[in-house]
Amino acid sequence: MTQEEQKEKKLEDIKKEADEKKCPVQKSLYFVDEFLSGPMCGKCFPCSFGSYEARVRLRRLAGGSGSGEDIAAVKRIASNMSEASMCKKGKDTAKYMLEHVDSREFTDHVSGVCAQRECMDYFKYTVIPDKCNMCGDCLDVCRDNAIIGEKRKSYLSGYSPFEIAQKRCSKCGECMKVCPTGGIVFVSVKESEIVEV
Ligand code: SF4
Ligand code: SF4
Ligand code: SF4
Repeated sequence: MTQEEQKEKKLEDIKKEADEKKCPVQKSLYFVDEFLSGPMCGKCFPCSFGSYEARVRLRRLAGGSGSGEDIAAVKRIASNMSEASMCKKGKDTAKYMLEHVDSREFTDHVSGVCAQRECMDYFKYTVIPDKCNMCGDCLDVCRDNAIIGEKRKSYLSGYSPFEIAQKRCSKCGECMKVCPTGGIVFVSVKESEIVEV
């Protein structure tokens, strides 16, 4: 197999892996990320510049800070790549983005919604203060030191419900599994609505 054939085969593998994701933003970001880390050779400007710029825009959308301008930019970049890329690899990458960028689930990200719950910056784990009995079970399982609170002692009063330090939380969900009172929930950052997991 020639080097070029190997790169084309790699692109087919990337597509299969991207297809396993459910969220169209995550699919596109995965495809472009992997394309840039392997098959993209940098020989032509529309593809090399375009895919780097598309990745910046897709990362914004996946991270919760994307705008309509980012979506328009992804469309524009992918259209340019589709027309002007020198080889099939650049054109296929553009095609993949164009297949997803117009979908409702893609554009909903601008409103703070990731329907497939794969863009984790759109969600957080949080403690319902009224349900927290300060048992400390969550503190014991959190490997990221993201739980803030002091275990209650029966002979002392004045304890406060536990909290989660969002910047340290890796969203593993272990605390929610062990909480005996159902006091830890997974919510959407935008709506503060509880999301089933
Ligand atoms: S379109 Fe093909 S030749 Fe051009 S940079 Fe991309 S991979 Fe290289
Ligand atoms: S496990 Fe639940 S009840 Fe216990 S301290 Fe944590 S949040 Fe509160
Ligand atoms: S989700 Fe994981 S990292 Fe975040 S507070 Fe719970 S146990 Fe810690």
